[in-house]
Amino acid sequence: MKRIYFDNASTTPLIEEVKAQMISIISDNFGNPSSIHHFGRQAKIIVEDSRSIIAKGLCASTGEIFFTSGATESNNMALLCSIRDLGIQKIISSPIEHHCILHTLEYIQKNNLAEVHFLKVDHQGHIDYNELENYLSKSDKKIMVSLMHANNEIGTIHDIEKLSHLCKDYKVLFHTDTAQTIGKKAIDVSEINISFLSGSAHKFFGPKGSGFVYINLNNMIKPLFHGGDQERGIRSGTENIYGISGMAAAFKSAVENMNARNEINLKLRNYCLQRMQDELSDIAINGSTTDYLSNILSVSFPPSDKVDMLMMNLDINGICASSGSACSSGVENDSHVLNFIGHPPERKTIRFSFSHLNSKLEIDQLIDVLKKLTPIK
Ligand code: PLP
Repeated sequence: MKRIYFDNASTTPLIEEVKAQMISIISDNFGNPSSIHHFGRQAKIIVEDSRSIIAKGLCASTGEIFFTSGATESNNMALLCSIRDLGIQKIISSPIEHHCILHTLEYIQKNNLAEVHFLKVDHQGHIDYNELENYLSKSDKKIMVSLMHANNEIGTIHDIEKLSHLCKDYKVLFHTDTAQTIGKKAIDVSEINISFLSGSAHKFFGPKGSGFVYINLNNMIKPLFHGGDQERGIRSGTENIYGISGMAAAFKSAVENMNARNEINLKLRNYCLQRMQDELSDIAINGSTTDYLSNILSVSFPPSDKVDMLMMNLDINGICASSGSACSSGVENDSHVLNFIGHPPERKTIRFSFSHLNSKLEIDQLIDVLKKLTPIK
């Protein structure tokens, strides 16, 4: 059976140019970038060329890009080190962030490292910018606002330009988790005031276990862990040159093809939505109706015997999608995001997330399968 992959918000496959780049580096380069001989210098060039590609794409300086193992590590660095090194006393965030933020905030609260305040979110996952401004205007603490650019489950986008202006006006730091938006939304840190920003290569057709953090030069932190002083001392450990060069190739391709890919995603999303609305009974869409990622369609289905096992039945029929959220053991959990936006628990939600590698024909096949598994009109 040819399987159809509609779980691109969870991870993406390596695209051909990334594979080619990684295979060439794996075949020809084994040096340690810290070595001063020929092989080391070659490896160092790979790392620094990769850093330049990412810095250029974000309009950052190369000194502001640090390679990490992914967005989880980058987000932990931003939250924990800003408290320890920059005197942050309070973090303002939202209850629908990714677990790598929420669990770090839980740790921060439990250990009395800083205060944490969660903004309210509405039923589409929007925060209230007035609530944030009101809060900022009244607080006398040293604050960092930490809000994701786009939500990984429902696709709702926060206006990071507006957030960055607010943070600038009230002289507070601004951290944003851009794991879902790198290569989907243009981000220019020379224009908008961002203190920390995180990315993960496998969300934009790069390798897993490779990511980066942008740290604005005005709020440089100290290392989270200690070692051989790689990454200018901020993130020690011998560089993963294969992952880093694969990530840079994926990043370059994502930025260069952003508009074309977004257009394909949006066409697929709109077509899928239209067919579902026309042919399936009583479906509801989760997330924003105005500011949403072009590739995420979170759909909730009315309760029925068949719908109970929908994820499993989709898989049996060759469709790979995702329910609310999956923990590392692969077990389906209740989604904290759906709970916070007031999603009725008796309904079953499936997140379909598309990419430019999908086709309209695959959506037709999905609709045929859904018509067997869910109530139709
Ligand atoms: N932040 C968001 C919004 C995500 O979607 C993810 C991945 O699911 C992460 C952070 C964590 O990324 P990684 O597991 O690659 O560290």
